[in-house]
Amino acid sequence: MSDCLFCKMVAGDIKPDVLYSDEHVLAIRDINPQAPFHALVLPREHIATLNDLTPAHAAVVGHMYLAARELAGQHGFAADGYRTVVNCNRLAGQTVYHIHLHVLAGRAMHWPPG
Ligand code: AMP
Ligand code: ZN
Repeated sequence: MSDCLFCKMVAGDIKPDVLYSDEHVLAIRDINPQAPFHALVLPREHIATLNDLTPAHAAVVGHMYLAARELAGQHGFAADGYRTVVNCNRLAGQTVYHIHLHVLAGRAMHWPPG
């Protein structure tokens, strides 16, 4: 997707602060962090929203969560805890239409979420 911000990052046309990378996903530091640690895990493949997932995407979604686990472990948040969030479409607040898993840590999280 030539007009997709995260596809441009995957292609190397835009250089984010990369925290983790493997053949399935890229994890970057969020430019507008909502917690002391805020990463985004995005698949290398363009998938616009959760609604666009098919059973063929099961493995890549699994890899997104494995990357979140890796990030939390490497940055020391595994034991105290962290939050993972995927926003889907307008009412959830999705602004970038290439799915991504938010990984937030470093402060107490509220529930219910805003
Ligand atoms: P969402 O609102 O769930 O679609 O999340 C999109 C996230 O992307 C927001 O948390 C933004 O702060 C973040 N974001 C937007 N542009 C950039 C960028 N150039 N580099 C890193 N994060 C970004
Ligand atoms: Zn994309």
